[in-house]
Amino acid sequence: MGLFNKILHAGEGRRLKAVQSIVPEVNALEPDVERLSDDQLVAKTSEFKARVDRARSSAKNPQQEKDLVGDALDEMLPEAFAVVREAGRRVLGQRHFDVQVMGGTALHLGWVAEMKTGEGKTLVSTLPAYLNALAGRGVHLVTVNDYLAKRDAEWMGRLHRFLGLSIGVVVPDDSTADEKRVQYDCDITYGTNNEFGFDYLRDNMVVEIAEQVQRGHRNQSWSPHFFAVVDEVDSILIDEARTPLIISGRAADAAELYYQFARVVRGLQRDRDYEVDEAKRTVVPTEEGVERVEQALGVENLYENVHQNYVHQLQQALRGKELFKRDVDYIIQDGEVKIVDEFTGRILEGRRWSEGLHQAVEAKENVKIKEENQTLATVTLQNYFRMYEKLGGMTGTASTEAGEFAHTYDLQVVSIPTNRPMVRMDNSDFIYKTEDAKYAAAVDDIEERYEQGQPVLVGTISVEKSEKLSRELQKKGIPHEVLNAKQHEREAEIVTQAGKLGSVTVATNMAGRGVDILLGGNPEGLARRECLKEGLVVGTPEFGARYEELLPGFQEICQAEGEKVRELGGLYVLGTERHESRRIDNQLRGRSGRQGDAGESRFYLSLEDELMRLFATGLMSRVMNASFPDDVPLESKMVSRAVERAQGTVEDRNFEIRKNVLKYDEVMNEQRKIIYRRRQQILDGEDLGEEAIKAIESAMARLVGEYCLGEYFEDWDVPGLLDAARLYYPTRITKDQIDEIIGREALEDLFVEDAKALYDDKAESVGVENLRDIERRVMLSVIDQHWREHLYEMDYLQEGINLRAMGQQDPLSEWQREGFDMFEAMMGQIEDDFVRYVFHLQVVVDDEPRPDIRNISYSAPSDPVQGSNAIEAAMSAQAEEMPLSFDDDQPVPIPAAVQQQPVRADKTPGRNEPCFCGSGKKYKLCHGR
Ligand code: ADP
Ligand code: MG
Repeated sequence: MGLFNKILHAGEGRRLKAVQSIVPEVNALEPDVERLSDDQLVAKTSEFKARVDRARSSAKNPQQEKDLVGDALDEMLPEAFAVVREAGRRVLGQRHFDVQVMGGTALHLGWVAEMKTGEGKTLVSTLPAYLNALAGRGVHLVTVNDYLAKRDAEWMGRLHRFLGLSIGVVVPDDSTADEKRVQYDCDITYGTNNEFGFDYLRDNMVVEIAEQVQRGHRNQSWSPHFFAVVDEVDSILIDEARTPLIISGRAADAAELYYQFARVVRGLQRDRDYEVDEAKRTVVPTEEGVERVEQALGVENLYENVHQNYVHQLQQALRGKELFKRDVDYIIQDGEVKIVDEFTGRILEGRRWSEGLHQAVEAKENVKIKEENQTLATVTLQNYFRMYEKLGGMTGTASTEAGEFAHTYDLQVVSIPTNRPMVRMDNSDFIYKTEDAKYAAAVDDIEERYEQGQPVLVGTISVEKSEKLSRELQKKGIPHEVLNAKQHEREAEIVTQAGKLGSVTVATNMAGRGVDILLGGNPEGLARRECLKEGLVVGTPEFGARYEELLPGFQEICQAEGEKVRELGGLYVLGTERHESRRIDNQLRGRSGRQGDAGESRFYLSLEDELMRLFATGLMSRVMNASFPDDVPLESKMVSRAVERAQGTVEDRNFEIRKNVLKYDEVMNEQRKIIYRRRQQILDGEDLGEEAIKAIESAMARLVGEYCLGEYFEDWDVPGLLDAARLYYPTRITKDQIDEIIGREALEDLFVEDAKALYDDKAESVGVENLRDIERRVMLSVIDQHWREHLYEMDYLQEGINLRAMGQQDPLSEWQREGFDMFEAMMGQIEDDFVRYVFHLQVVVDDEPRPDIRNISYSAPSDPVQGSNAIEAAMSAQAEEMPLSFDDDQPVPIPAAVQQQPVRADKTPGRNEPCFCGSGKKYKLCHGR
């Protein structure tokens, strides 16, 4: 059994030993690798690639190929790591520490490496990135913001480029698809979680394979999602995962088309132009009717443009005209069409008819058709990242969430020891009676440290709290910086200096994350800042020269200041409130005491804090009763433990909520996968010939089933059948022919044979190749139309389900059942439309107008934690309904207030998007009213 098999079978708790066992192997190779010249070192890359290719060439099928390539990579790990380490030493002046080799191994194995802040995770990721890039399928390195993506690509790019790999970056900007594709074609691509997700969605909205940007599409057996390393993995997969990425927009002129059809059908006559069957709730246009419509629209052929789908428009307009009666089926109220419940007579608020029917009725009544932005594509980060064949993650804080990583992502957490022993002093909490007393004491503490010169990093849980504290500091005349995770680059520059002598920095938890805090300050940053101050322009020779000139001076200053800061006790982290999750508190603490530095931390709490008010009341408030002085803190291990227990309770609850949200998302996820797979096959040029025949057969079966209710002729609606058949294909069957038929099955056969024969004729007249092309285009177009419509309806369904959750129904099973039914219905509609259009389209017109989608916008999770205080929302909104522990067999409602709301890039949200206020309601039902 090879080394890797042994590792993979290492039992729980043995993972650390497993990754440790790699280190001696890598170290043993070091002397040999050190002796190589630069050229020889670089040549290793092609040698490794050749080995992968050899492994690949003996594969007989895609699965085997994956396995063999995977084995080859495992086998090469020690050598490849030794090469990367040597390159790090030569190019960056940083030789990977043994613990970094361990971390790199964990990532390669698809685990989460927990490594403390400052341990050099950026460098760690170069090991598995290089190794896996050798497979030639593209490795994605995922960061939380674009500043970090660019920084890491540039910084680590030097190492990778030296070894002959190409490096790309994808961040939100205005690059074209061609430019994006170049980035994805690189061996390693750095980017933000959102950008990777949006590119995936966009790739599934294109109509030509050539427009797709993520690679792998070109080879059907390879998914574009091979291996990703996610930095700050807990932020991305836990904090942000609940919020979907959404691309929304609206079709221009869609409303106009409904009005046009409403006008056209107004001029049509019942029984001459169309037949109505009230019992079956169908309206079918006659041949004469269709001709009249073509004339009115000024088109040759109602079927000439599959994208506009006039046939569907006509049908809905006719149904709206004949089957839906004002003041019976609906009423007009405040200029809106509102559905009346047929059983209770009550108005069904917030409900709409589907498939464009509602708009058709609005057009008929000449009221305003709502042109709302609707969801065009959506995926949660959770589901996006679960698509990767292999996923590794790194963060300073994972072990508190190990259960969730395992449950949701099948990711195992391994805690890697620090390179040097950690000496930071973590003091127990100070608890005050009132918030004011707490802030007063915290400010005193800051002042004292500031006067000594010890740098202080103050953590707050929200922007408002930061501002409040900042005002207090101002009153005392203490100079400080305030950050709130809005301008990543500027804040990174500030945070990197937070270890300077006498600096005070107030930040929400996430501000400046990923940026290293060196005691005494960061000389590169200072030199750069000085050059800018002197008016020099980045990238010019003057800038470079001046920078080099200044750097040694700053290095000396920082070195000296660093010594002083160390003597003063290192960076002091002061938390002004416990966050609802211990992990976030640990992140804050972790900013201090990096790489064996001196450091200290303390949290200041008050009984008025949210967390304390809700959970830690009893004993503590008894102790801290009226006679207890305001300005004296309670400090005891017991209390700190109580606080942590309270956090544990909230963490569990949030995990339950996320699990529950995931169950809801599962429905959409399965559907999306089916639709996207189908699209991709079509883009890949799949032959739909057989599918067309099957679709014809089942369409004919549905048709006959609908119009011929019994075995016998008397039960058949022959004229209706013929009219309806004509909507599918130009049937040649006559009434006389049908009169001679005995039995429904024979009738079905008659239609199937007739349709198939016509289809063969068509293949002959337009050419088989052309017909295949028509099929693909039609299929793609109808899938897109119906999928968009489906997303729209699922949005409505979700709204309705949330209301039902208040009744006694189990919302999850309702959602699953109705979601499934709607999907099935959609698939039937797709088939129907497909048959209609492949029969009627004569040629493929390349520049057929497609609906013009306007007002495209993107929404994504906001920075987690800061800004949205989930606990507050959860408690105030759901305190009564939400039990503290969940029963397994009790449905857990999705507390809307707890789901994080996307923050939109532009000012006004779309009507169906969540309101900016974070209420969890749709914009149109909240501030958009
Ligand atoms: P993390 O992401 O784990 O918090 P970073 O990747 O930001 O840490 O690195 C922290 C600092 O440690 C950086 O300044 C980096 O240059 C330095 N560093 C990392 N690895 C090494 C190494 N092997 N040798 C020297 N310095 C290192
Ligand atoms: Mg980092």
